[in-house]
Amino acid sequence: MKAILFYTHGGSEVLQYADFPTPEPGRGQVLVRLRAAALNRMDVITRIGWPGLKLEYPHIPGADGAGEVAALGEGVSQWKVGDRVVINSNMSCGRCEYCLAGMDNRCRSWQLLGETRRGTYAQYVVLPEQNLYPLPGHVSERAAAAAALVFQTAWHSLITCGALRPGESVLIIGASGGVNTAYIQVAKLAGGLVYVVGSSPEKLEIAKSLGADFVIDRSREENWSKTIYELTGKRGVDVIVDNVGTTYPQSFRAACKGGRILTVGNTGGAKFEIDNRYMFGKHLSIIGSSMANRKDFSRVMELIYAGKLTPMLDADFPLEDAASAQEYLAQGRQKGKITLSIA
Ligand code: ZN
Repeated sequence: MKAILFYTHGGSEVLQYADFPTPEPGRGQVLVRLRAAALNRMDVITRIGWPGLKLEYPHIPGADGAGEVAALGEGVSQWKVGDRVVINSNMSCGRCEYCLAGMDNRCRSWQLLGETRRGTYAQYVVLPEQNLYPLPGHVSERAAAAAALVFQTAWHSLITCGALRPGESVLIIGASGGVNTAYIQVAKLAGGLVYVVGSSPEKLEIAKSLGADFVIDRSREENWSKTIYELTGKRGVDVIVDNVGTTYPQSFRAACKGGRILTVGNTGGAKFEIDNRYMFGKHLSIIGSSMANRKDFSRVMELIYAGKLTPMLDADFPLEDAASAQEYLAQGRQKGKITLSIA
């Protein structure tokens, strides 16, 4: 099969479009012929690498993908060849205390497809049968691939962990990335009043088109926590989605008493300072999460299939141009998801 491989960490130049043996499905596994993959920031972070990351080379990036079932391993009962499927990239053991409690995204031996296992920048991928979800005929592989990781992440964070209730206010830091555009839609669907802080008028237009009630341009209003304070009658907001990190001082100020700060990422860097006085003085909670459990995954995919949630699509590149696609992602100018078409 054709795939995007790398043998060493580095810039996008380490990515090679090359031949790689098509994997064979083992017991309980399914071979999927991929038609689309979607990029995530994790793809670039894994390519660059971090201390302690051990990959089996060559590595194939990619967590998101969709296509059709091409072959079945022994004992697979719920799929047949030709079924259209979308991938759930949470790899869990199914046996540990967390998996047995339905919290498979906390699995003790959790892995993310494309991070520590070969992923979806390829014509084929082998997965356990429980990592596939049916894809109906009216939804494109591209849309499904673009939706899976970001929408399950936003849903699990905001609804399952953040317990957002109708009428509560939500502030989202960042307007245009895949996960934040998913957060805006999930917050609106759940009956939230949505505030978005973004870096440019163009990005905030996207937030508005997705239903944001109030938008704040941080290129013009640097002290946006004060703006939030004024907009909310000096109350602050109930829930803040902050996947930047360095913005926490302002997020703490923008929160109401008892506010919840949700995080699923760290685009502004891994380390930052927090002023603990806000934590106890304002009764704040910081709630971190990663990905979603299976129940949340199926719920959010059904909402996408029903048209209640819609992935924002930016550029589409052919698989062989994955290096250009990753460079485009790293520039941070995209409005929604970047995808790969796999011929
Ligand atoms: Zn487990």
